[in-house]
Amino acid sequence: MRRIVGEDPDFSSLGEEMWRMVKGLYPICRSITGEGLRETLRVIGEHIPLRTRELPTGKRVLDWTIPMEWNVREAFVENSRGERVIDFEDHNLHLLGYSHPLDAKMGLAELKKHLHTLPDHPDWIPYRTSYYDDNWGFCLSQNQLEGLPEDSYHVRIDTTLEEGHLSYGECIFPGEVEDEVLLSCHACHPSMCNDNLSGIALTTALGKLLSEMPSRRFTYHLLFAPATIGAIAWLSENLDRVGRVRHGLVVTCVGDPGHMTYKRSRRGTARIDRAVELILRESGEEYEVMDFSPWGYDERQYCSPGFDMEVGSLTRSSHGRYPEYHTSADDLDLVRPEHLSDSLRKYLAVIDVLENDRKYLNTVARGEPQLGRRGLYRAVGGGTSEERMLSLLWVLNLSDGDYGLMDIAKRSGLPFRVIREAAGELLKTDLLREI
Ligand code: ZN
Repeated sequence: MRRIVGEDPDFSSLGEEMWRMVKGLYPICRSITGEGLRETLRVIGEHIPLRTRELPTGKRVLDWTIPMEWNVREAFVENSRGERVIDFEDHNLHLLGYSHPLDAKMGLAELKKHLHTLPDHPDWIPYRTSYYDDNWGFCLSQNQLEGLPEDSYHVRIDTTLEEGHLSYGECIFPGEVEDEVLLSCHACHPSMCNDNLSGIALTTALGKLLSEMPSRRFTYHLLFAPATIGAIAWLSENLDRVGRVRHGLVVTCVGDPGHMTYKRSRRGTARIDRAVELILRESGEEYEVMDFSPWGYDERQYCSPGFDMEVGSLTRSSHGRYPEYHTSADDLDLVRPEHLSDSLRKYLAVIDVLENDRKYLNTVARGEPQLGRRGLYRAVGGGTSEERMLSLLWVLNLSDGDYGLMDIAKRSGLPFRVIREAAGELLKTDLLREI
């Protein structure tokens, strides 16, 4: 049996480490292209061996085209006294993503046509973008908007929209087989912690732990790419190898206090779907399972009909279903170390299932094998551990060639880890052999 990580990883310090990474990346202004995205990939590369790819503006990727590269020097709205009443320096969500350059004077009515607020949450700044539509704008809190008097405003947006590149980063940890597990997260959102940075931090932590595994059955493929266009670009560049992806998860929204949510792959009964659902059930905590829909994160691309990959998405609160989603309130208070570490624990448990789910054959199919003779019926801590005995008997009983360890865990109601350990113990005897 394969051990995923050391005997007892220190989840509490891993949670702190992930949170510190989120905090470090938080101020960077990311977008689907540009220096903020590159800087983010550079930081990830300090933790795991990341290979960065750059695709030029204008390149066709599936049905899409790599857009112009966008960068921001400064952006603000100034009143007639020269005071900056909205300033990108204060919060990068203030600028509508992909705003084109502008230097103009205008009255409040004209300015308001380009301002975005959230009246239901008057203190929060919304997150808005205009990637594929030539536009400009600012986002601000409703309270801030209501404080703006009639005046002559100076709007200055010093951005560049030029031929450049789209960047993504990937990291591959080879296993015994070429079959891959894809762990994909988007890396294109500016200052937001749960949607974006929590996924980046958790995927990076998983990468570090995977690199420390003494041996891996699967090859692990980690991808950090801008949402939609980045996943499409990666798929387009890897048409000859995406068939290797056997299982996958889209990683995001893993740091908030909400319960776990799993969105199934398009197939619905893929091995990854069954593995995640088994782990969530085992947790004994509240969770939710949703069927696939072509809306959400990059599972939309991986599960498009021409790929139909076995990729689901494991989150806490899911896409668009928490109030702070796509606002300035998705911040360092919403994402906490203990939620990150709890999510990491569950991701590792899923990887444990994928790595160790095998079918075995009980060599003494007629009647129950005599465990005592083989030293398996031994006392544990003064009495025989019932769970351990049960797990041995379940593995023996169901190892008839039809059931794998994941099925046995599900049917027995025992934790997968216990079933895996029982199989490991039985493999040391003559009672079990791998099919
Ligand atoms: Zn988002």
